Amino acid sequence: MSERPDGRKFDEMRDIEAKVGVIEQADGSAMFRIGKTIAIAGVYGPKKVVPKHLEDPEKAILKCYYDMYSFSVPERKRPGPDRRSIELSMVIKNALMPAIFLREYPKTQIEVFVSIIQADAGTRCAAISAAAMALADAGIAMKDIVSAVAVGHVNNEIVVDLNKEEEDIEGTSDIPMAYMPRMKKITLLQLDGKLPKEKLRSAIELGIKSCEKIYEIQKKALKGRYKLQGE
Ligand code: UDP
Repeated sequence: MSERPDGRKFDEMRDIEAKVGVIEQADGSAMFRIGKTIAIAGVYGPKKVVPKHLEDPEKAILKCYYDMYSFSVPERKRPGPDRRSIELSMVIKNALMPAIFLREYPKTQIEVFVSIIQADAGTRCAAISAAAMALADAGIAMKDIVSAVAVGHVNNEIVVDLNKEEEDIEGTSDIPMAYMPRMKKITLLQLDGKLPKEKLRSAIELGIKSCEKIYEIQKKALKGRYKLQGE
């Protein structure tokens, strides 16, 4: 089969939209949409650590909370945290942490809340891309932005940005990736399913190339916000 279910090319991501400054109450915020998947991130802090015993005298602690709305998916999801959201919160935190100068903010916490208001696969990656922009919007010192997308192996082809329909195809493997484009470092690499060894490298290369494209979109959104404030 040479075509993807929605007619995209193998190396073509879904339509992307990025916006910074979407939550007035937050110190930093952003929206990232890729196809039908929409993530909204709010950053609060650096601020006092609660509970205090978690405080680190040398650096800030990062807390991430991933949540998917009940009606973000066709089959209603039970509200509240579940095993999946707890795991994804940890995955998102680990993907963002290498980009933040946590030692600049000892004895504080930085909280990142990400809500998935609509899901059509790729939500952890959309969450990371939104959260990275929100952190930058909050003025947190960062080495780099983190850009994320999933690559995968669908119908014997390496493809980028799988939608739910592709994820559900028998034999599909899914590889969520996060990448710091300036530092050229991967901060998240997961593999769900099986993939011939020789194809993994080309999948990762496609992931990096796609993250670089996402990075440009994130930068543009951040610059747009900066200009608006200065006007
Ligand atoms: N999904 C769903 N109900 C759930 C959890 C997930 O319909 O309770 C869908 C949703 O579209 C999600 C996709 O399954 O994006 C894939 O979920 P996965 O856990 O693989 O993570 P993701 O690809 O979103 O990072």
